[in-house]
Amino acid sequence: MIICKSRTELEIMHRANQVVSQVLGELVQRVQPGVSTGELDEYAEGRVRELGGDPAFKGYRGFPGSVCASLNEEVVHGIPAHERKVAPGDIISMDLGVKIEGFYGDSATTVAVPPVDAEIERLLRITEESLQRAIDQCRVGKRVGDISHAVQSHVEAAGFSVVREFVGHGIGSVLHEDLQIPNFGRPGVGQRLRGGMVLAIEPMVNMGTHEVEILGDGWTAVTKDRRPSAHFEHSVAITEEGPWVLSAPQTHMRKASGYA
Ligand code: MG
Ligand code: MG
Repeated sequence: MIICKSRTELEIMHRANQVVSQVLGELVQRVQPGVSTGELDEYAEGRVRELGGDPAFKGYRGFPGSVCASLNEEVVHGIPAHERKVAPGDIISMDLGVKIEGFYGDSATTVAVPPVDAEIERLLRITEESLQRAIDQCRVGKRVGDISHAVQSHVEAAGFSVVREFVGHGIGSVLHEDLQIPNFGRPGVGQRLRGGMVLAIEPMVNMGTHEVEILGDGWTAVTKDRRPSAHFEHSVAITEEGPWVLSAPQTHMRKASGYA
């Protein structure tokens, strides 16, 4: 069942997503050689609670962390650990969920640790651009396929591939609500978008093959060819006035954190 949110509910979701955005921005500033994904996770959990939220991923189907921290060939759902340290040339995707007053926020970003390979930099740029193009489709009367196609066409024109196994989703008082938002598909098909829908749109883009596999820990998704993968996500409300990116960083902090 697709649940459309009231204005009041959207405002609560905005608060949850602003905590996500704030903490993700702070995490980005902490990514440097030698930091472990376990440290990033502890920091995130502490800050989410300080800001009045609950980490949404911790304990979700048994996931042990507050942040999904995925390095290099890891696509999504990397388990944070003190043994996993960030090294120069790495990319790390950080995906954070927060619950406030019964509603969820969900956003992710990928950052690179210098020195960055030019092709990896291009992978990150194209993935983030594909998310922006998808957000541009989040308008009343458009269809899910328009969002999917916006991602896929941009990614594949750049010579990269989109992951099939994981998709974006509706979000609200449940973390993963109805409406799946694939990052591949044809324009003009699928569910029509209505005011009050909130969608977590999350392109996962691989440099090589689109195929992924799950590691023995039961969580970490990696590219089958072990080439790098990037992930960006925003929670977006469909409104009569156009897309409202609930997890967009506030302009005043965007500059300070380097997270956009
Ligand atoms: Mg997420
Ligand atoms: Mg999500």
